[in-house]
Amino acid sequence: MNRSSCRGLAVIAAVTAMVLVGCGGDDEPAADADAGRLQIVANFYPVAEVATRVGGDRVRVTNLTPVGVEPHDLELTSKQVDRLEDADLVLYLGAGFQPALEDVADRLGDRAIDLTRGVGLQKGAAEAIEAEEAAGEEAEEAATEEHEEHGATDPHFWLDPQLMSKAVDEVADALATAEPSAAASFRANASGYKRELTKLDMDLEQGLAECARSEFVTSHAAFYYLAERYGLQQLPIAGVSPEAEPDADRLATLADQIRAKGITTVFFEELVSPKVAETLARETGAATAVLSPIEGLTQEELDADKDYAAVMRDNLAALRAALGCR
Ligand SMILES: [Zn+2]
Repeated sequence: MNRSSCRGLAVIAAVTAMVLVGCGGDDEPAADADAGRLQIVANFYPVAEVATRVGGDRVRVTNLTPVGVEPHDLELTSKQVDRLEDADLVLYLGAGFQPALEDVADRLGDRAIDLTRGVGLQKGAAEAIEAEEAAGEEAEEAATEEHEEHGATDPHFWLDPQLMSKAVDEVADALATAEPSAAASFRANASGYKRELTKLDMDLEQGLAECARSEFVTSHAAFYYLAERYGLQQLPIAGVSPEAEPDADRLATLADQIRAKGITTVFFEELVSPKVAETLARETGAATAVLSPIEGLTQEELDADKDYAAVMRDNLAALRAALGCR
């Protein structure tokens, strides 16, 4: 999206604040429409959505991860670093999700909020860690140190709507601290948004309650928290980061599991190459389908006015079909 269309959108932001989330990257803020608004930088789509929904017309949210880009290990341009340093508030995820951003955030003190701290992360599926360690043997030493530094926790909490609700509260707290005069409005917006997340959680709970199978094969290990919440188990091809590519042993094990458990579908994601998923599906006679880790929305999804809850409902439909749910 170019600068002038972002500027045009900013003018109507009061009624369609969500649209601004689509204006990621290096666009300049439209100063006239932004007067008095809190300037917030969010590290990737889900956080940008939360900030936009909670902040409403009191905030101007920039998504640091461009549309269509996979956010793990995002590298920053100098312009993006400037944007981070100028922001009133930076909302991001620690736990090694985007180390370059964490380095900048460390310099910003109270203006940078690591949402993983309040949410409470777990280690993630043992399979995921194993896959990552297997890939890590070939990775450069620096990457391994980074990994150990963060204690190998799994950052993908947003795929559990209950944990997403915790992040909404954290964002409401952060905004209320930054602009106390609007605290009541932020809390009201947060409550409204959390009601939607509660409804989503109930629909997932119900939709995944009675299924023929509980295991699903995913592209990278993004679905640990979702699987834990709804009594499922992810069998990830890659590790907690999509770059941690699987070795031949891992793929052979997965192929055996797919055949033995009668798994019908190998899921892939839209922001990462589907090549390995397609190979695995071909080998085992399974189908492929999209299961989104919601690490970013595609331009098509944004054009269709999709949001976190809408893509989660697409995921629910995909899981129900793959798992044979009643
Ligand atoms: Zn991920």
